[in-house]
Amino acid sequence: MFKGILIEKDDAGYRAGLAELDDTQLPEGDVTVKVQYSTLNYKDGLAITGKGPVVRRFPLVPGIDLVGTVEASTHEGIAVGDSVVLNGWGVGENHWGGLAQKARLKGEWLVPLPAAFTPRQAMSIGTAGYTAMLCVMALERHGVTPDQGEILVTGANGGVGSVAVALLGKLGYTVVASTGRPAEATYLRSLGATEVIDRAQFTEPGRVLAKERWAGAIDTVGSHTLANVCASTRYRGTVAACGLAQGMDFPSSVAPFILRGVTLVGVDSVMCPRAERLEAWARLGRDLDIAKLDLITHEIALTEAIPAAAELIAGHIRGRVVVDVNR
Ligand code: NDP
Repeated sequence: MFKGILIEKDDAGYRAGLAELDDTQLPEGDVTVKVQYSTLNYKDGLAITGKGPVVRRFPLVPGIDLVGTVEASTHEGIAVGDSVVLNGWGVGENHWGGLAQKARLKGEWLVPLPAAFTPRQAMSIGTAGYTAMLCVMALERHGVTPDQGEILVTGANGGVGSVAVALLGKLGYTVVASTGRPAEATYLRSLGATEVIDRAQFTEPGRVLAKERWAGAIDTVGSHTLANVCASTRYRGTVAACGLAQGMDFPSSVAPFILRGVTLVGVDSVMCPRAERLEAWARLGRDLDIAKLDLITHEIALTEAIPAAAELIAGHIRGRVVVDVNR
């Protein structure tokens, strides 16, 4: 038997609870992993609270990421005792995920724990941090360099935002952090932001073209925020969009794209090809100041994950939440 969070939906309604599970309930897969840590990402918050249609089958163990050691494997190249990391691939959505002491997964989904990180550090980064790295790589791919000017990060106090600020700061960019929690300005500056601004200037409907300011941007918020960010991006600048914390809509116009040559790049971590994942994790090993991870992270026990999910969706949690599934 092992412990895990189980989400159920039936005549009694939608609910998440701590459950005693056994191996026969695990889904199919060629690798069984003894989980050390999982995390709470925004998507896990939606899954646990039921506030968004994340869970595709019931009952389901949530948790879109995990780190652990291989307990059994018939997958070529993955051996018992290996340390592995999982991000995405629909795990925690339609396949049992990381918020349990055990997981059974497809070997092709797993990447080796990068040598640069302890298991806990890898989950301090987690899917949010790996997505932040994908966003930085997207800006780079589109020619954004530190000498071009300011880079905006929205939802800066969140998991993706915090890691994005830290990465961009270390890479020498001038980072402007947008947040609804200006009281966290000291935190954001210590991560690498040079300026902290109030998100209120982005959250309401705005002009189709505004004063040009950003050489690039990483947006975790969507909706009017993304529209206003595109409208204030400089000629030929690039916006990497990965999130929907404000909303899934995008009430914009083509003006920034056809009049200013702005590029809007979509970033998806879930189905991202393996080669790019490996590159992102290798880059995190080089480009993230590990000392910043302690500032970004707080750890909770598996038993605390359900109330913490509601706090995360309410926007009350700063940075990243690591879940020790064995306590
Ligand atoms: P968090 O909850 O940690 O952070 C979200 C942040 O967004 C909050 O901390 C807050 O920042 C800001 N925010 C919340 N609500 C609002 C609102 N109504 N209006 C404006 N800003 C708001 O989530 P994550 O960092 O884990 O994820 C961020 C987003 O990225 C989510 O939408 C998530 O689904 C998405 N995501 C997408 C991935 C992909 O593959 N495309 C992968 C990972 C995440 P502040 O207090 O600083 O304003």
